[in-house]
Amino acid sequence: MLRHYLEVKAEHPDCLLFYRMGDFYELFFDDAVEGAPLLEVTLTARHKGGKNEVPMCGVPHHAVDSYIGKVLRLGRKVAICEQVEDPAKAKGLVKREVTRIVTPGTISEPELLDGKEENLLACVVWQPVARPARRGRQADAAADAAPGAGAFLDVSTGAFFVRRWRDVERCVEDLGVLRPREVLIDGDDVPEAARRWVEAEVVCWAALDDDQRLDDRRAHALLCEQLDAAGTLAGYGLDAGEPAVRAAAQVLAYAQETQRADLLHVRQLTVRDVGSTAIVDATTLSNLEIFRNQREGTRDATLLQTIDRTVTAPGGRRLRDWLRRPLKVPAALALRHDAVAALVADAVRRIDVRTALAGVGDPERLLSRAVFGQLTPREAATLRDTLARVPTLLATLAAVENAPRLAALAAVDPCVALADELARVLQPEPSAKLDDGDVIADGVDPELDRSRSLARDSKRHILALEAREREATGITSLKVRYNKVFGYYLEVTKANQHRVPDHYIRKQTLVNAERYITPEVKELEEQILSAEGRQLALEREYFEQLRARVADEGAGLHALADALAEIDVLAALAEVAVARRYVRPAIDAPGAPIRIAEGRHPVVEATGRTPEGEAFIPNDVALDDDQQVIVLTGPNMGGKSTYLRQVALIVLLAQIGSFVPATSASIGCVDRVFTRVGASDDLARGASTFMVEMVETANILRHATGHSLVILDEVGRGTATFDGLSLAWAIVEHLHNGPQRPKTLFATHYHELTALAGRLPAVVNRTLAVKEWQDRIVFLRRVVPGSANKSYGIHVARLAGLPDAVVARAEGVLAQLEADGVAPSIGAASSDPPSADVRARDAAPAEPMPIADDGPLEVEMVRAPPDAAVDPATRDQMALFTPPAQAVAEIVRALDLDEMTPLAALNMLASLKQRLGG
Ligand code: ATP
Repeated sequence: MLRHYLEVKAEHPDCLLFYRMGDFYELFFDDAVEGAPLLEVTLTARHKGGKNEVPMCGVPHHAVDSYIGKVLRLGRKVAICEQVEDPAKAKGLVKREVTRIVTPGTISEPELLDGKEENLLACVVWQPVARPARRGRQADAAADAAPGAGAFLDVSTGAFFVRRWRDVERCVEDLGVLRPREVLIDGDDVPEAARRWVEAEVVCWAALDDDQRLDDRRAHALLCEQLDAAGTLAGYGLDAGEPAVRAAAQVLAYAQETQRADLLHVRQLTVRDVGSTAIVDATTLSNLEIFRNQREGTRDATLLQTIDRTVTAPGGRRLRDWLRRPLKVPAALALRHDAVAALVADAVRRIDVRTALAGVGDPERLLSRAVFGQLTPREAATLRDTLARVPTLLATLAAVENAPRLAALAAVDPCVALADELARVLQPEPSAKLDDGDVIADGVDPELDRSRSLARDSKRHILALEAREREATGITSLKVRYNKVFGYYLEVTKANQHRVPDHYIRKQTLVNAERYITPEVKELEEQILSAEGRQLALEREYFEQLRARVADEGAGLHALADALAEIDVLAALAEVAVARRYVRPAIDAPGAPIRIAEGRHPVVEATGRTPEGEAFIPNDVALDDDQQVIVLTGPNMGGKSTYLRQVALIVLLAQIGSFVPATSASIGCVDRVFTRVGASDDLARGASTFMVEMVETANILRHATGHSLVILDEVGRGTATFDGLSLAWAIVEHLHNGPQRPKTLFATHYHELTALAGRLPAVVNRTLAVKEWQDRIVFLRRVVPGSANKSYGIHVARLAGLPDAVVARAEGVLAQLEADGVAPSIGAASSDPPSADVRARDAAPAEPMPIADDGPLEVEMVRAPPDAAVDPATRDQMALFTPPAQAVAEIVRALDLDEMTPLAALNMLASLKQRLGG
C-alpha cells in the first residue's frame, strides 16, 4: 500500500495527498508532518516503534470538506486519492486513484465557497515581442495592441472571460479588482510588476513549467473544442495566436486536470474590453471602501454592505460585478433605472418577486456540481424547488409596468421540462446522501417500488424474528444485529448462554456476549440485502440519469440563472431606494455636468457613524466646465473626506443603475473614478508612503480623461510642507490646464491653494463651515463657497485627548511660526505659487469666508496670540524653528544679478550651500 502511496505522491509533489483508507483519508510521511498542525489533528505513526515507522495522520471522510478548507485557506492544494472499487469485492489491494485535485481557484464544494463571491482562477500570459500584424486577414486591432492577456474562470459557476492588457499597469489593476484566488503565470515574459503583485497578494500561484504550457496551436484547438467553435474563435472576437487565447486555454486545461472532468458547463467565453463600462480600479475600490473597509478589511460599513439587499447568492455576486464594472452608456443605464423605478413604484410585486427569490438556490453552482458528478440528492431537490418557483416569479415580473428590461428578463426560458423531470423523479425530501436510499420517488419504476417495499418488509420480518426467538428461548435481551462482516446475527449475553438452543450456530465470542446465526436468519438476510442492493442500484441509476439531465441543460440553466441574478439585484436596488429614500438620477452623456442636490454619504448615513451620533447633513455639488476643480478646505474633522467620497459614491451608484442618496441628481456619465486618498505605506511592495502617493497621483494625471472624476484627498501631505504644497499646486494647475480637464475634487489643508481660484477660471473654492463658540468649535458639516485658512488641528488634537501641556506648547509654537512667517498667518491666503516668498501672504482669501445660514455664525478666524503672549523661554527655543532657507532666501532676494560676474555667482552659490549645511 505504501509503495502505491509513494507512486501517487510522486505524481503530485505540490499537493497534500489525502489517501482514502476505509472511513478515513490518511496522510503519510512529510505530508503528515506538515498536514497534522494545519488540519489540527494528531500526528501518529504507522508501524509505530518499528524500524519502518512512518508518520501518519488522518481525517474522517464524512468531514473531509472542512479539513480541505483549512488547507486551501493557506494556499495549499489537496489531491484526493479515492478507493475506486468496492473494498468488499476487491482482490488484494483495493484499487485507488486520484479522482480530483482541490485547489483554491477550482473549488466547487458549496461548503468551501462564499456564496456571494466569485472564486476565480486566472492565467496571465505575455507576448515576448510585439506580434507583427497578420496580413491578408482582418487582424483584431485590439489584440495586436495588447501584448498581455489574462483569462479568468469560475469553475463553480462556469463564468469565463478574458481581458487584454496594453501594459502591465492595466494587468495589475485588473488583478487587484478581480482578486483571483489562484493564478497561473505563463512563461518568463510576464512582466516583473505582475509577478510581484501575484507573489504578494495571492496565496496560491504557480509559474507553469514548459511541459504544462500549451503552444498557440494546441491552445486554439482546445478552446475551439471546449466552446464548440468549429475551428475558429472569430465569433468570440478572438484571434488565433493572441495571448488571450493561450491564457483561456491554459486556465481550462488546468481546471480539467484538477477536476478530472470535462467542464461541460463552461460553454461561453467573453472578451471583457472596457467598451461600455467605466473603470473603477483597485485603489478606488479600496479608498471608497466598496467591498472592504480600510481599517479591518471586513465588509462592515462598506458600500456593498449598505446596498446589498439581494436575497440570493447569484444576486450577491452580480451586484459585486456591477460595482466593479459600472456602465457609462446612458441608454443601458436607462434600462436599469427604469426597472428599479418600476419596482419602486409597484411595492406589491416587488415584495412578491423578492419573496419568491428568497427560496431560490444557486442554479449556476448546482449545475457545475452536476457536471462534476457531485450533485447530491438534497442539492437536486434545491434545484427542483428553485425551478418550481420560477414560473410564478416570472409572471409577477412580467406584470410590472414601464420596464422593458424586466419584460425581457421575464421572458427567459423557465426550463419547465427539467423542472417537471426533477419533480417527477425525486422524493419530496430525499436523503442527504445517495447511499442512504430514498432519493427517487415512489412510482418512478415498478421494480424500484417492489425492491423498496421488500426491503422495508424484510426489516419488519427481522423484528418479528427477534420477537419470536425471544419468546422461544425466553431470553428477553436477545437481539438481532447487523455488521459488515457477519451480516445479520443473534446476540445473547453471557448470562443467558445456558438457554441458547442447539440449532444456533456460534459465530463469534465477545467478552460479555456470544453471536449466533440460524438458517432462518440467513434466509431473511439474503432477501433483505438483495432487495436493498437492488433498490440502491436502481436509485443510483435514476439519480445519475437525473444528474446527466441537469448537466445537459447547461445553456438553459445558465440563461435562467443569469436572469434570476439580475432580477434579484434590480429588486434589491429598488428595496434600498425605498428604505433609504434614494432618488432616480438623471443620466447624461459623458462629459455633461454632475449636479447633486442634498447628497448624502450612503454608508455614513446608514451606519449613523458620525461624531456623537449627529444627524447626517446633506450637501450639494456641481461640477461642470466652469466649475471643473473644487478646492475644498476646512477644519480637521470638518467632513472633507466624507464629502469627497460621497460624490464619488453617488456617481458610482448612479452608474450601476441604482437610485442615489440625494434629493435630485443629474450625472454626466464618467469613464473612470480616480481616487487618491490618505496616506498608506506599501512596504510589501517596497514603496514608502510618499512614493505610493506620487505613484497613484502620476497614474491619475496620466490616465484621467475629460470624462473622468478625480478625487484627491490631501495630496502632497507625505513630504516636507513646501514640497507638498508646490506639488499640490502644480497638480491642480495641470488638472485644470491640461489637455484632459477631468472633473476634480481636491481636499487640502494647504490653504495657499485657495489662491488658485483667483487665477484659474474653472477652479472654485468650497469649505466646510464651522462655528467658533466660546473656547470650542462647532462643525456645521455644510459645504459653502469660500475657503478656510485655519485647520483647527490643535483644537481637534485637544478633543482627541492630547495632554494639555502638549496642546499648550503646540499653540505656542504655532504662534511663533505664524509671527515668523513660517506658517501662514491667520486671515491671509497666498495669491502666488508657493515657490515665491511664502511670507507675502497679504492677499485676501479668494472668496468670502463661510456664511452661516442658521444663525450668527462666527467664522471670522481669530488671529493667533501676538509674540508677547509667548514666554521668553519658549521664545528662545523658537529660533530652532527658523529655517536657514529663509536667511538664504533673504540673501538671494537682495542680490543684483546684473552686477555679478559668473565667478562671483558661483562663489555666492557655494557660500549659500554652506549656510544650508550642505
Ligand atoms: P481631516 O481633515 O481631519 O481628515 P475631514 O475634514 O476629512 O477631516 P471627515 O473625516 O470627512 O473630516 O469627517 C469627520 C467626521 O465627521 C466623521 O466622523 C464623519 O462621519 C462626520 N461627518 C462628515 N460629514 C458629515 C455630514 N455631512 N454630516 C454628519 N457627519 C459628518
